[in-house]
Amino acid sequence: MTTGYVWHELFGWGDTGSGGLFPADPAVGLQPTGHHVAHPDTKRRLHELVAVSGLIGHLERIEPRHATDDEILRVHTREHVTRLRQESAQPKGGDAGDGISPFGKGGYEIATVAAGGAVALVEAVVAGRVDNGYALVHPAGHHAPAHIGMGFCLLNNAAIAVAHARAALGVRRIAVVDWDVHHGNGTQSIFWDEPDVLTVSLHQDGCFPPDSGHVTERGGPAAPGSAINVPLPPGTGDFGYLYAFEQVVVPALRDFAPELVVVASGLDPNAMDPLARQLVTSRGFRGMTEQLLAVADEVCDGRVAMVQEGGYSPLYVPFCGHAVIEALAGVKVLEDALFPVVGGMTGHDLAPHQKARVDEVAALVVSPGGKLG
Ligand code: ZN
Repeated sequence: MTTGYVWHELFGWGDTGSGGLFPADPAVGLQPTGHHVAHPDTKRRLHELVAVSGLIGHLERIEPRHATDDEILRVHTREHVTRLRQESAQPKGGDAGDGISPFGKGGYEIATVAAGGAVALVEAVVAGRVDNGYALVHPAGHHAPAHIGMGFCLLNNAAIAVAHARAALGVRRIAVVDWDVHHGNGTQSIFWDEPDVLTVSLHQDGCFPPDSGHVTERGGPAAPGSAINVPLPPGTGDFGYLYAFEQVVVPALRDFAPELVVVASGLDPNAMDPLARQLVTSRGFRGMTEQLLAVADEVCDGRVAMVQEGGYSPLYVPFCGHAVIEALAGVKVLEDALFPVVGGMTGHDLAPHQKARVDEVAALVVSPGGKLG
């Protein structure tokens, strides 16, 4: 098993400004702070844990590059790119588009390396240079639709990589599994009318964006059934997420039979995350990865490319991401030092209202014969 790994020190230099979530504003009581909630330290700390634990010795480093304009414009509008470039050239940078997604001077160039990191990983997986891999990138991408950035996302890294695989690498059918705790709205909208790209998003019901990621969102007129949404109730833990994988994600992938699986790997369903209220631990992330690899072995020779999305707990994101990457590489080199705390919380077992939601989605999207409905 060869697992590719993308990281660049530049990702840790992403400047998210002095606001905490909204821009600092004394008039409404919003104080400046040293760490915006989307500060890249969570990802830098994950990389450092991968290095310090020795896991990095089991991985094949893949150098990211800048995504090209042509690669970016397969997914985004020229107007969006032009505006990001202009704001990125300002002395204090700008915002991705929704007023809560600040980036510093040169932030656009960092975002093109994040997108290029996802592209480089997908190229390596498709070419067979690695069996699977993890692109630990910043900033995240999955909230960005074609025309605007939002939710700390400038460019939709995973969507750019998917579009590249389809346009330049001869891959037709691709599934995107998004386990970020927030809805993968940008990716869903980019491939809304594309029958050969399946998007599956598991997220906390009604978390972000508002009024997005409903069970009823199933794909556009030309691609009915190509979007699947599993809005899990707040408080869902390891066994709720694993049940959703068993009942929805795995059957959907088996039926769709993609040639490549891309995972939008947000680590913010974790039990210590400040921007959501789910309870997933490293045990859950490891289990989801193992289920995904097993079905990918069945349908696409195990070709899985994971791209980092959100994750806002500096303490716990590293252990969750480390478990995912260990599972990809088929090794175990480190125990989760925080598991005695988060694993001991009640709420990991599948609760009836969580089961009901998953069963509702499963009945809608997967027929008794195992076919996508
Ligand atoms: Zn998120």
